[in-house]
Amino acid sequence: MKIPAEVKNIVQKLQAAGYEAYIIGGSVRHLIVGESPNDWDLTTNARPEEIQKIFPDSFYENNFGTVGVKTDSDDPTLQVIEVTTYRIESKYTDKRHPDDVMYADRLEDDLRRRDFTMNALAMSEDGSVTDLFGGQGDIKNKVIRAVGDPNERFNEDALRMMRAVRFVAQIGFTIESGTLEAIKKNNGLIAAVSKERIRDELLLLIDSPDADSGIEILRETGLMKFVMPELLEGVGVAQNKHHIYTVWEHNIKALRYACDKGYSAEVRLASLLHDVGKPRSKRGDGHDSTFYGHEMIGANMTAQVVDRLRLPLKQAEKIIKLVRYHLFYYNVGEVTESSVRRLVANIGKENVEDLIKVREADRIGSGVPKAKPYKLRHLQFMIDKVARDPISPKMLKVKGDDIMRLLGAEAGPRVGMIINALMNEVLDDPSKNSAEYLSNRVLELNKLDEKELADLGKIGRQKMLKEEEKEVVKIKEKHYVE
Ligand code: ATP
Ligand code: MG
Repeated sequence: MKIPAEVKNIVQKLQAAGYEAYIIGGSVRHLIVGESPNDWDLTTNARPEEIQKIFPDSFYENNFGTVGVKTDSDDPTLQVIEVTTYRIESKYTDKRHPDDVMYADRLEDDLRRRDFTMNALAMSEDGSVTDLFGGQGDIKNKVIRAVGDPNERFNEDALRMMRAVRFVAQIGFTIESGTLEAIKKNNGLIAAVSKERIRDELLLLIDSPDADSGIEILRETGLMKFVMPELLEGVGVAQNKHHIYTVWEHNIKALRYACDKGYSAEVRLASLLHDVGKPRSKRGDGHDSTFYGHEMIGANMTAQVVDRLRLPLKQAEKIIKLVRYHLFYYNVGEVTESSVRRLVANIGKENVEDLIKVREADRIGSGVPKAKPYKLRHLQFMIDKVARDPISPKMLKVKGDDIMRLLGAEAGPRVGMIINALMNEVLDDPSKNSAEYLSNRVLELNKLDEKELADLGKIGRQKMLKEEEKEVVKIKEKHYVE
């Protein structure tokens, strides 16, 4: 893996001005395993104002020493390179915010304040690595290990415990036993971390390829009690004869499916939470237990979860709705168009696709093999069908009322015949669908005798039915239903 010219250029300019500069953090880890980094972070002993002097086209908008240096690269990961001054760990007395940013003069001090050995590596522009804590070995063995004493490090910043779990889900490493024990011991410290920082970490975890493993580890370490305690109610809660898994296991497996399919964070969270209300609604025991109303109880519990996580309103509402309506009933031939319309109105047109994804996750998570059975495909067909305007006289620019007014006539079969005759013309040539043209035609058609008009009307009506049928067949083909 080569270091891009843009990065080298910044390192060399800093060196030319008499400073040290290294590639640092996650970017070095990515380089070592042969991946291209998502972003490039540099560290230097130059102070922010000195960095800005060297790079006039840079911005410094925080107060923790990170300057954004702009490049003219076309690659979005290289357009802004973050250059951060060496820092040392300053005490986080409230476990939330560093009390002060304290700059350091030596690289060692900066490496010592970093979270994990795999992130505490510095690389020079010639590719040589400074590794004070065995980070390269840990990367080789896929191990997440705190730098120094894990208890102290988690006391300085408790979010590091969630970062460790997130990295498991994201890159598939395992947490070293001493570090894991320290998380279990200190899990309560997470309560003091701001809700926004927890949310950002949790969303990174949820969007990871192995989010389900991350969720399991949040439970094992006791962190889950502070993040989404509602989910823990399902641990060990058996279900009825339709299920082989406990509520907790089933929720996790639904999430696993959503991960495998690469679904969005909303679908993943809704899949994880879809049965969260089951324990509180459980009646009876064993094979015949029931869970009536669990989707409503679950939606209320989900509202508490997303509120605690400070999710943006739109995202929060969507997840709540997905949980609320995940149980929708659909049987081919049994469910009417109007109840499909009601479902679409409740969940929102824009959420229909995601609702079906959650339902798939639910099915697969209970051990049933087929993701999208005939029933669900048929529902999608029905949803598409009710979402469009059918081919009918409603689409004409001249309506029955207009015709009666034009002719000074009462409602009656003759008006119906004229409408059908107009349909005939508009279906042949949609450009004729204007109020002006059709009004003229009404007057012309009215001159025809009963028999002529009835024949024209019949042709129009048949054409309309045939066109509508063709449209429906098209939608059926799209969803592979009959
Ligand atoms: P990614 O691949 O997601 O970019 P990353 O390791 O770069 O992963 P960032 O959140 O971008 O993660 O952080 C950059 C670096 O800053 C980390 O590699 C780590 O060295 C350090 N760091 C970030 N957060 C903390 C923290 N809470 N405590 C100590 N060091 C941290
Ligand atoms: Mg990074």
